[in-house]
Amino acid sequence: MSSQPLLPQERLLSSSNPKRRMILTTILVPLLLIAGIVFVSIKGDGKPKDNLGLAKYYLQSSPVIDGHIDLPEFARAFYGNDITKFDLNKPTKGHVDIPRIRKGSLGAFFWSIFVECRDDNGIDFLNPTFQVRDTLEQIDVSFNLIEKYSDTFAFASTSDQVEMVIKQGKVASMFGLEGGHMLGNSLAVLRMYHKLGVRYMTLTHSCNNAFADSAGIFESVEERWGGLSKFGRVLIPEMNRLGVIVDLSHVSDKTALQALSITRAPIMLSHSAARHFNNMSRNVPDDILAKIGRGKHQVDGVVMVNFFPVFASANPDEVDVAYIADEIEYIVGKTSKHHVGIGSDFDGIESTPKGLEDVSKYPHLFAELLKRGWTEHDLSLLAGGNFLRVFKGVEDVSKKLQSDGWTPSQEIYDKRIDLKPIEWEL
Ligand SMILES: [Zn+2]
Repeated sequence: MSSQPLLPQERLLSSSNPKRRMILTTILVPLLLIAGIVFVSIKGDGKPKDNLGLAKYYLQSSPVIDGHIDLPEFARAFYGNDITKFDLNKPTKGHVDIPRIRKGSLGAFFWSIFVECRDDNGIDFLNPTFQVRDTLEQIDVSFNLIEKYSDTFAFASTSDQVEMVIKQGKVASMFGLEGGHMLGNSLAVLRMYHKLGVRYMTLTHSCNNAFADSAGIFESVEERWGGLSKFGRVLIPEMNRLGVIVDLSHVSDKTALQALSITRAPIMLSHSAARHFNNMSRNVPDDILAKIGRGKHQVDGVVMVNFFPVFASANPDEVDVAYIADEIEYIVGKTSKHHVGIGSDFDGIESTPKGLEDVSKYPHLFAELLKRGWTEHDLSLLAGGNFLRVFKGVEDVSKKLQSDGWTPSQEIYDKRIDLKPIEWEL
């Protein structure tokens, strides 16, 4: 890993005219160096001296990339997706609006594309539902908000685009799908979501689906497949081929372990707390953390830490900035500083940690970690550097598989009967 910040400061000398560049190099550089030395000796290095000021200073060049924000769900739940009914330039009743995004140095986030699990899907998950329609509505409302506030947001579906949008001073907006139940049992639907910009998918939400078993939300659910179904074992290579990141938040332990053994690409947990702190099936256990890394028998990945106090602790009232920092350091201890990130779950959680009440507060978490000895480089990895490495890794695998001749999977969920060819009488 480079020791540069996620987004290095613009170089001083960027002129493309060689003559002008030479003049700049020979005259300006020595002058600037002398001035710099004089300035530093008189004034110091210009960096704030307090942790919060320094955290904000570092976040300017390596802003937060949040793995999971439920702004689209907020729009649906409170305003029926009517974007004329609320104004993101003013304080919202949620955790996210533009002034607070700016204050918190949020540089990019995954807009969570989510509709609820249905409990009447039937044992084979074949009962008709509106989940694909509703998912498309959540993608639509996300695009509508990005376009309405195009001075702030810009859609991004590649790692290069994320970096470019951040450099432009806008908030890179990526889409993550929260649950395989939104595919309607169809890999074709996954491919269409990918064309619409979806770049990660949690294999499940809080219900089992045709592909995999879920962890349940507050307690585990009875398993249906013992981890991945036969179809789920086809889904993962198809996600690898497309470049949709396999997200192991929300899945059962067996699903996670089996997915880790199948995937050819790095993985993520977009918004997970550590089970060590709260023995809840929704949280990531140590044996799964042990599989994440870049060693032998490990898979590269990033664990983006969820802020919801109810997941973080059996005593949610105790959860504050220091507690979330403890969780991050615990995950670092089980993996390394190359495998942590932020996945707040803002706008999708009913309570927040003390001191991390909304998107304006990220710098307080980074200040806490500075106090504990984290360096600028460490913080840039946590803020977004680790996620970008994973995203690039997934993109590389996708390109490789496609250049190796992998074509769209023609697999159909074997319990479907509607796609059977008819007998033609010609
Ligand atoms: Zn979730």
